[in-house]
Amino acid sequence: MKTVRLPSGELVSALGQGTWFMGEQSSAQPQEIAALQLGLDLGMTLIDTAEMYADGRAEVVVGKALSDRPSRRDAAFVVSKVYPHNASRSGTITACERSLKRLQTDRIDLYLLHWRGQHPLAETVQAFEALKSAGKIRDWGVSNLDVKAMTELWQVPGGQAVAANQVLYNLGRRGVEWDLLPWLHRHGVATMAYSPIEQARLLRHKGLQSFAIRHGLRPAPVALAWLIAQTGVMAIPKSASEQHLRENAQALHMQLTPDQLAELDQLFAPPRGPQALEVL
Ligand code: NDP
Repeated sequence: MKTVRLPSGELVSALGQGTWFMGEQSSAQPQEIAALQLGLDLGMTLIDTAEMYADGRAEVVVGKALSDRPSRRDAAFVVSKVYPHNASRSGTITACERSLKRLQTDRIDLYLLHWRGQHPLAETVQAFEALKSAGKIRDWGVSNLDVKAMTELWQVPGGQAVAANQVLYNLGRRGVEWDLLPWLHRHGVATMAYSPIEQARLLRHKGLQSFAIRHGLRPAPVALAWLIAQTGVMAIPKSASEQHLRENAQALHMQLTPDQLAELDQLFAPPRGPQALEVL
């Protein structure tokens, strides 16, 4: 099973589960809870959520999924995110406390700044470090930060403790390979790829479909296995479907050959120059 080592030395599953759009409809909750639990059982033990998703109700769904048996929480690695407008010195702390309540847990394993907003990075880092000292979060990171912002963060007191940067990255969005991924790799910061199948649009790519057929594979696990084949890269596909989860989990055990990787490079060209960081 593929894992990624965080700067702390902790190993986490390279394949996790997203939760954007979960918690939107109460009628869908039982299926979403069952999906997250199945994903955990299949080895996708990292769960990514945020205070933003469904106004906190995605965190409620995660909390319920983690509460069916005592061992569930310990087996999971929970990631959540603070809204930029809450990311002041005191706002980060109260936002985290609200998230902890919704998640029905006493600690978040990795707490991220969702994107950069008005509050100085130094203040957010101070709050993250205070939460860490209090045992309310175990590690912290950022999301949607480009090389310029990461360089700035690195200069801030305590900024070098950043564990991960969660960014838009998939076969069809390879711009980050030009400068951001090498920067993160050089500084020992993990990369978490969001929208790893481009919200399912990637699966309709004719080239990827014929690649999968030629090799007797399915497009989704190919796209995910390609991401997590890279050192320090995790991917967090969202699915509330049992069939899709089982398919996605195949990526944890899939080893693409050098020839297959070269074929994918032909289909989805790597960047030839710097590009602005893309976001969804
Ligand atoms: P994904 O690329 O994970 O795609 C999710 C969509 O793909 C859903 O509609 C899902 O439907 C479908 N799907 C999943 N697996 C399969 C499969 N095997 N076959 C066919 N369809 C499939 O998009 P997301 O934008 O949700 O990104 C993943 C996670 O990343 C988010 O949920 C969120 O946690 C995080 N994120 C973070 C952002 C940030 O700014 N930090 C921004 C965007 C996302 P179904 O449920 O029916 O399977």
